Amino acid sequence: MLNTMARLYTNAIKVLRQTTRLTRIDPKLVRALEKPQRILKTTLKIRMDNGSVKSFPAFRVQHNNQRGPYKGGIRFHPKVNLDELKSLALWMTIKTALVDLPFGGAKGGVAVDPKELSEPELERVTRAYGRAIAPIIGPERDIPAPDVGTDAQIMRLVREEYEKYVGHAAPTVVTGKAVEDGGSQGREEATGLGGVYVLEEGAKQRGVDPRHVSVAVQGFGNVGSHFAHFAHEFGFKVVAASDSKGGIYDPGGLPVLEIEKRKKERVPIPDMGLGKPISNEGLLELPVTVLVPAALEGVITERVANKIKARSILEMANGPTLPSADRTLKKREIPVVPDVLANAGGVIVSHFEWVQNRGHEHWTREEVRSRLREKIVAAYLEVLKTAKRLHSPLREAAYAVALLRLM
Ligand code: NAD
Repeated sequence: MLNTMARLYTNAIKVLRQTTRLTRIDPKLVRALEKPQRILKTTLKIRMDNGSVKSFPAFRVQHNNQRGPYKGGIRFHPKVNLDELKSLALWMTIKTALVDLPFGGAKGGVAVDPKELSEPELERVTRAYGRAIAPIIGPERDIPAPDVGTDAQIMRLVREEYEKYVGHAAPTVVTGKAVEDGGSQGREEATGLGGVYVLEEGAKQRGVDPRHVSVAVQGFGNVGSHFAHFAHEFGFKVVAASDSKGGIYDPGGLPVLEIEKRKKERVPIPDMGLGKPISNEGLLELPVTVLVPAALEGVITERVANKIKARSILEMANGPTLPSADRTLKKREIPVVPDVLANAGGVIVSHFEWVQNRGHEHWTREEVRSRLREKIVAAYLEVLKTAKRLHSPLREAAYAVALLRLM
């Protein structure tokens, strides 16, 4: 039986094929998208602090560069594998086309648990990875960014290794840099904030007051925490939140700023003494207006989909919904705002960072936010319009918009 990640890749391909049937897009184009253009696969041999040597599988998948340089994050997670990265890279191609950026799609990663490494060990892993991918990345070729388990500091190290390789400064080789390293204002929160702009537009379209919209957020990392922060700031009622240790629920609304503060002090969410403790599975089944999976792939299985009581789903994680679950949700008429749209804020602001670096410009946070809002809402409205025209779920409509741009 295929593992979850291979199933995700098969599903991604299936959605591509279904979309072709809906829109009469040239099947030859879709066949070209079924395989990544290049895969780099290697093993990093790293000296650990105790003198032993450990091996870590590492990858970079360059899916498609038809619309511009490959673009995609670097993931450090023990479960990183090639099938997962192939799916993530394909979704980047769809995402960048959907929000109309001059980029293609890529993804990379190392099968490592960064939490188990000392700081010097993490630096050695990152530099070794940077050296491994240096020959195939570049500001006009492939531009990595942070993803699960990586951050601005990791981007700095990758950039340094690339600069050593080419022998000159090249700040545009990565995005998601710290502001003092040439990063953009507003990049760190961009993915979460972009999702909240979509949520806000959805409420506006339905004429619903945000105070009457309850939201459950699974995952409180970069994406989930910023999503919860801005949802709260924009007046939505965040009633549940979780991290890998479990979650909490308060139908009256959670004190999001307090959760953020305690999380920075490294207190696991279920130990905060705020709200009623719930499991991560329990969170997915809460009676809320919007369910927001913002952690890892494949959490909404068919079994979970049958138990979901949320009125809609906003996918902030990549690939949280399995194919069989998607079918069940369609039958149950629970709309799903797909990942390729909902979490595109990160790559949109990565593009802003790249543009600012190349033009030696510095945009204000307000400017970044207003451009982000404009871009992601435009894509959302186009997906809604296309879904209406094709009588299709939002995911297929989003793929249709993207594929038409890739033709
Ligand atoms: P992160 O590493 O910062 O955070 C992940 C969070 O998920 C953590 O709070 C962790 O405790 C939690 N978690 C882990 N396992 C869990 C489980 N089994 N149940 C519930 N929570 C669990 O990662 P991130 O950058 O926030 O990314 C989250 C998702 O968003 C991923 O799917 C990623 O690909 C996607 N994404 C991230 C970005 C970005 O800019 N960072 C952009 C687009 C999409």
